[in-house]
Amino acid sequence: MHPWIAKRTESFDSSGIRRVFDLAAKLDDPINLSIGQPDFPVPRAVRRACIDAIEGGKNAYSQTQGIAPLRMRLEDELRQTYNHSDREVFVCSGTSGGLVLAMLAMVDPGDEVLFFDPYFVMYPALVRMVGGVPVAVDSYPDFRIDCDRVAEKITDRTKMIIVNSPANPTGVTASREELKALAELAAERNIALVSDEIYSSFMYDEAFTSPAEFNPQTIVIDGFSKSHAMTGWRVGYVHGPKAVVETMVKLQQYTFVCAPQPAQWAGLEAMDVDLSAHIDDYRRKRDLIVEGLSDCYELTVPGGAFYAFPKAPGDSGAAFVEAAIARGLLIIPGNIFSARDSHFRISFAASDETLQRGIEVLRELA
Ligand code: PMP
Repeated sequence: MHPWIAKRTESFDSSGIRRVFDLAAKLDDPINLSIGQPDFPVPRAVRRACIDAIEGGKNAYSQTQGIAPLRMRLEDELRQTYNHSDREVFVCSGTSGGLVLAMLAMVDPGDEVLFFDPYFVMYPALVRMVGGVPVAVDSYPDFRIDCDRVAEKITDRTKMIIVNSPANPTGVTASREELKALAELAAERNIALVSDEIYSSFMYDEAFTSPAEFNPQTIVIDGFSKSHAMTGWRVGYVHGPKAVVETMVKLQQYTFVCAPQPAQWAGLEAMDVDLSAHIDDYRRKRDLIVEGLSDCYELTVPGGAFYAFPKAPGDSGAAFVEAAIARGLLIIPGNIFSARDSHFRISFAASDETLQRGIEVLRELA
């Protein structure tokens, strides 16, 4: 380790994902089912709004908490959806920015943060970055929320529970009952519940439910990256209890400063875009994957997001992924998202042709 590098950086690494990308770089027409973002373009009206903002001179810092029209629009929606007396919203630099600020605002060194395994890769890394202790709650084999398992992991140091539905990497959506039970457990034990709702637009079988419906103290983190295919534009938002939001805004002032202003205007426009055709298309892609693989893989049907998380044949997901990559198919080994090395992640945010080619290779490998 170079003497200048801080110790906190030693507690997590990015070698797993890098390894997949290194292998991928050697392929010339790969069947790429590894991408964590939509394959449709940013809607035209949203692109136009960003260009108009730039051309109209809206290029300076915005207020730390975000441009007023976007905040007011979000506030209106929140009032209609939740009508919580103690709920404020601010605009952050992508959902990732919101997650970083949530950790900085609420997790002290030694505090424990619970999340479900498999998990989004950032969760344990961010917890460690602020000196917290990541505590994974196993959710295999069906990736459901089991509150008894959560309760078993709660200690005097438990500060936060993170829930992510629809989930990366499984695509599994928690039921209303599961979210209600988790929301009530967090409230009873006075633990901060952080709900990462970045995939909330991508629901295929039922309407989206937020645990904030059942626990008014829930901190919700959402954004436009996935819903409007604008991952590079860095616009997210957070809503939650006033004291938490104010602390996060204070931290944003000294870190991200604000989300990019032109992209915030685009976010405002995005709220009027009808996404239903894209969602219908992704539901159909989900069905293609499920129909193509269910008879030869153990697979929990994803109810949302754009991922599926089948069990790999053999005893190593990582070894299976290497075999797939050797045949030109890019997928991600489950051990990047989990303490277990038994599954692999497919993204179905790809063209039908790519999906068909991927299914063929996976059927051969099964
Ligand atoms: N949460 C989850 C579960 C994700 O999958 C992602 C993106 N891969 C993010 C947060 C971050 O999204 P962004 O920072 O682009 O809003």
